[in-house]
Amino acid sequence: MFFIGIFGINSRSKKIKEVSFRCTGCLNKKGELTENSNVFEFFFIPVFKFSKKYILICTKCKSMYKIHDSSIEKILETEKVDYEDMEEVIYENRICECGEKIVDGYEYCPKCGKKL
Ligand SMILES: [Zn+2]
Ligand SMILES: [Zn+2]
Repeated sequence: MFFIGIFGINSRSKKIKEVSFRCTGCLNKKGELTENSNVFEFFFIPVFKFSKKYILICTKCKSMYKIHDSSIEKILETEKVDYEDMEEVIYENRICECGEKIVDGYEYCPKCGKKL
């Protein structure tokens, strides 16, 4: 958080709900949909929100996916995120079935040798 005199800009993250999806990183099927916004504050009172972003976080590997704003209503109704609802991958963790963390670029798990 930083201040310009008595004004402040604060970044907030709020959990909206748990949804089902297929994580491309670890093949987990559960994620948390969060709303992230920057809040403009005046004397610590939130005045308005701007640059709202919806981010889906995998509950297992913590991979993060940015969600299309236009898909939010559908997701809240169905509690399901499809591949086309994801705008971009912010951060992806790849984890092998054996639990080994995979470094980008590897095609085989360095621990158990399984093809990924
Ligand atoms: Zn995952
Ligand atoms: Zn492995």
